[in-house]
Amino acid sequence: PRIRAVVTTGGRGLGRDIIDRLPGLEIVACSAVGTEKLDLAACRARGIAVTNTPDVLTDDVADMAMALLLMARRRLVEGDAHVRSGAWAREGMFPLTPTLTGKRLGILGLGRIGQAIAARAEAFRMEIGYVARAPRDVPYARLPDAEALAGWADALVVATPGGAGTRGLVSAPVIRALGPGGTLVNISRGSVVDEPAMIEALASGALGAAGLDVFAAEPAPDPALLALPNVALSPHHGSGTVETRDAMARMVVDNLVAHFNGAPLISPVA
Ligand code: NAP
Repeated sequence: PRIRAVVTTGGRGLGRDIIDRLPGLEIVACSAVGTEKLDLAACRARGIAVTNTPDVLTDDVADMAMALLLMARRRLVEGDAHVRSGAWAREGMFPLTPTLTGKRLGILGLGRIGQAIAARAEAFRMEIGYVARAPRDVPYARLPDAEALAGWADALVVATPGGAGTRGLVSAPVIRALGPGGTLVNISRGSVVDEPAMIEALASGALGAAGLDVFAAEPAPDPALLALPNVALSPHHGSGTVETRDAMARMVVDNLVAHFNGAPLISPVA
């Protein structure tokens, strides 16, 4: 009964089981943008305020998307091993890879992070297309759905929220449409991609390569995924820089201070 505030992360969230045991709870401050593991309905029903940390992490996550795109498409993980293992001297030149310049980038979910990815892709002279539920005032091609976007694109970056609304959005047909020359990057949530279908496609060559910051199972992703050479992996570290984690922590504290001072919250979740 003495607990009035909870601080949590996107990965941990806060379930109804705990919310129900905190009768004095007034605010949940989540250090993440994604709140799909937080029972928002339970909070709403009790009038409990919820805050997250948008904007401050956008650039780092967009950087991670571009890094994974280059890692996967230019086979940087294998190239690194080629040098370290001495294979370069023993076996010679590393195989040629597809380029990024001038190719089509499909962005699934053109929100804050999606638009920051688009800005970076413009500097790579990529042609940009997107899917979002509502049209955006942007100079990019809007495709009707994920499958059409994947069929159009050379590389597809997933930047939607996670949760029930986007579960399995990148389905087996979407992955097939991206094709053997295609690169899939996911910095959103593992749940948005049909992971078994992606693994099968990567193993058979039906999908060219993938760069993944997020997984269906974290922190121990499917071993079948880890065994594939055409995958670049990152431990859900899109926002994992010193500067951004400091800014996120600051935002959590500022929201709590605002709440307990009776001031407007900095970043309430609707
Ligand atoms: P945002 O500004 O809310 O953008 C999300 C976009 O996704 C919105 O523009 C929304 O547009 C679109 N969207 C939602 N449902 C969709 C659907 N079914 N089909 C297509 N588009 C859909 O959020 P953000 O700040 O960019 O963050 C996006 C997500 O990135 C977060 O929710 C989180 O899961 C993830 N994230 C990951 C990391 C990491 O470390 N890897 C860090 C931060 C965030 P419409 O409503 O117009 O469709």
